Amino acid sequence: MRILVTGGAGFIGSHLCERLLLDGHKVLAMDNLLTGTTDNIAQFAGREDFSFIHHDVTNYIFVHGKLDFIFHLASPASPIDYLTYPIQTLKVGSLGTHKTLGLALVKKAGFLLASTSEVYGDPLVHPQTEDYWGNVNPVGPRGVYDEAKRFAEAITFAYRRYHGLNAKVARIFNTYGPRMRADDGRVVPAFISQALSGRNLTVFGNGSQTRSFCYVTDTVDGLIRLMESDFPGPVNIGNPEEMTISDFAEFVLKRIDSKSSIVHRELPEDDPKVRKPDISLAMEKLGWKPVIGLEEGMSRTIEYFKEKLRV
Ligand code: NAD
Ligand code: UDP
Repeated sequence: MRILVTGGAGFIGSHLCERLLLDGHKVLAMDNLLTGTTDNIAQFAGREDFSFIHHDVTNYIFVHGKLDFIFHLASPASPIDYLTYPIQTLKVGSLGTHKTLGLALVKKAGFLLASTSEVYGDPLVHPQTEDYWGNVNPVGPRGVYDEAKRFAEAITFAYRRYHGLNAKVARIFNTYGPRMRADDGRVVPAFISQALSGRNLTVFGNGSQTRSFCYVTDTVDGLIRLMESDFPGPVNIGNPEEMTISDFAEFVLKRIDSKSSIVHRELPEDDPKVRKPDISLAMEKLGWKPVIGLEEGMSRTIEYFKEKLRV
């Protein structure tokens, strides 16, 4: 197939491009490099089956030739990124999703939206199932991301119902791995780079909040299985192995054998207190579950950051 990946120069997008190329597809990565970098896709440069289009998807999108499928991943994704770019985040979730759906319609292509566990907000149902509608503060700082994605889900399903578009929604939970930016503020690259460089690990709040971390190749495999299935979702894609942020800090210190200490910083506003995907639906409809555990995934990620930070 000939497949477009918006946000293709980002963390997950570049791993998705890599897997699609391995599977024998032709890949076009489209990105405005707001939070991504061409370093992430430099290894595909010069390949006949890969091309990069520097474009902001909130503007009209024109692509030559046929397209069979579009993965729409373009969006700032880390809390510090979407707090730095609140308007761009709202625009890419709304206008960018509209433009990308319009492109899918004219190309008669399938469409997959990379949505997020943030649509559940600070969840009152735990673990989160897809039929839970969420607990989001629309006017809080995180609202720019959460509401943009909620709108993106709504317009994706409207195109499905109104235009009959083969459009799907994946709700991705915290994903980590090589090619995250050391300074993107997300907890995995933050703790690893702090521990590797001997700085203190910054646990926000008392560290009792939980997250469940999924290794990037597992997430990508879930997205591809959703593309290949007849199921529209929304479907949770994440690893249900839940832990507190304090325990995660201890895990990183031990794993890196670091002398760093743990310091506490203020908990960001509206930071979800718990998060864990119920993946029954993904298992049933896609035959998918994650296969890389935290030990293995973290050791690959730590190796990447050692190389990157030259420590
Ligand atoms: P990332 O920041 O590394 O990648 C996002 C990419 O989108 C970047 O390359 C950025 O330059 C690009 N982009 C942003 N605005 C754009 C625009 N207007 N036009 C074109 N390109 C634009 O983040 P990521 O972690 O790889 O996230 C990818 C997608 O997955 C996002 O949609 C995010 O919401 C979703 N997601 C990620 C996670 C996670 O844990 N990583 C969890 C849930 C959902
Ligand atoms: N966090 C932290 N220290 C950091 C970065 C993040 O304690 O240096 C916490 C953050 O408050 C949240 C969790 O780690 O509770 C996960 O944060 P991240 O930004 O990775 O993703 P989120 O799930 O909040 O989008």
